[in-house]
Amino acid sequence: MSDKRWLPETLFDDLGFRMTFAVDKVLYEQQTEHQHVVLFEQKHFGKMLMLDGATQVTTRDEFIYHEMMTHVPILAHGSAKSVLIVGGGDCGIAEEVLKHKSVRRLTQVEIDAAVVEFSRGHFPEFTTPVFKDKRFESVIADGMKYVAKTDRRFDVIIVDSTDPHGPGKVLFSQKFYAACGRCMTAGAVMVTQNGVPMFQSGELTSAVVKRRKLFADSYCYIAASPTYIGGHMAMGWATDDTRMRQISVKTIAERYRKAGRFPTKYWTPEVHVAAFALPRFIAENVAKANRRQPRVRRA
Ligand code: SAM
Repeated sequence: MSDKRWLPETLFDDLGFRMTFAVDKVLYEQQTEHQHVVLFEQKHFGKMLMLDGATQVTTRDEFIYHEMMTHVPILAHGSAKSVLIVGGGDCGIAEEVLKHKSVRRLTQVEIDAAVVEFSRGHFPEFTTPVFKDKRFESVIADGMKYVAKTDRRFDVIIVDSTDPHGPGKVLFSQKFYAACGRCMTAGAVMVTQNGVPMFQSGELTSAVVKRRKLFADSYCYIAASPTYIGGHMAMGWATDDTRMRQISVKTIAERYRKAGRFPTKYWTPEVHVAAFALPRFIAENVAKANRRQPRVRRA
């Protein structure tokens, strides 16, 4: 091993393995009020952001997760005007949302001001177009407190959070999902970062059960992002519109055409529809979770 600094992803230490990255240059490192933040340059993945030892975003593969967390819910909904992002301080998802001209307002609620600040310096490819856009509103707050109090209503909620540790833990709670349900319009949809089922299956099961209590459809879709080690990444799906994830490739393609066919590198109408076709081990996990929890009507 060279005398370079090697940074380990410690997210799966309890499973007894680590992915470790050779650091070319540390661009930013700080223990903030909420978490340990390190941003560095890496030979293959470009700029990499790690929070509390977990990889958040890399310039090499960010498009996969950012496109799938954005274009799937917005084009499945079909007339989304008001969008909420909880977390997402790097603005990678915000940049994708604002490609949709139909979106009239985008509110981003991030708990850690430092993440937004250094992203304005180090991720201009995301932040410059976003902060120039009049539709964008940046709020520094705990997402739980925001959704519990806001009188706004949203057609799409995108929870781009860290894992269920530290500040992100509450974003996987029943009360958070219930509060999100409270500020969703009729027929709205919520999608969430829901871990990699191969290593974090409990995280997916418990989230599906909690959302099943509140929504007619509690499910997930998938995409494989190299630096979210573990194969498929699960993206949680919760809505009362049980037809929304059955929409055809033809209809999604037509909506994409009307949305101006903005450039994508991962998402396509076919990939969109295929993402809901879950491999058996994940499908059985989700089905079991749904069988376990009968739906409870939302207040
Ligand atoms: N895509 C990444 C992933 O899947 O791991 C997440 C990226 S984004 C940087 C995660 C953001 O969630 C972080 O900036 C973190 O500060 C924010 N966050 C964590 N807990 C939060 C909370 N309770 N309210 C709002 N933002 C929160």
